[in-house]
Amino acid sequence: MLRENEVSKKEKADIQTLMKFVEIYCHENHDGEKVPFSLKLLDLKGFVKREILLCPDCHHLLTYGLTMRMKCPHDPKPMCKKCETQCYHGEYKAKIREVMKFSGMYLVKHGRVDMLYHYLR
Ligand SMILES: [Zn+2]
Repeated sequence: MLRENEVSKKEKADIQTLMKFVEIYCHENHDGEKVPFSLKLLDLKGFVKREILLCPDCHHLLTYGLTMRMKCPHDPKPMCKKCETQCYHGEYKAKIREVMKFSGMYLVKHGRVDMLYHYLR
């Protein structure tokens, strides 16, 4: 399990952004039972101060996204949009796009452009 101090600054920022975006999306769009997010790959305590509650679908998506981010074969990582490897396929790709778009807009509306900056960098 990777700790917060074992990843690069860029990786940490990407991980935090991904978690934040999926959390906003789930919170605003999905009702029903939510469980605290956890991951075998990362020790999340250093990355988030509180628990992230997600529905099973978003749990799945975030697990996939974070796993792929940590396994990115490129160094430095290019912007996912411009990457030739493309770890998101089919359903995942459509879903993560929707999440990014929705939560991006949400953050703009709520004046959190600093979060966007992390994502677009
Ligand atoms: Zn959800």
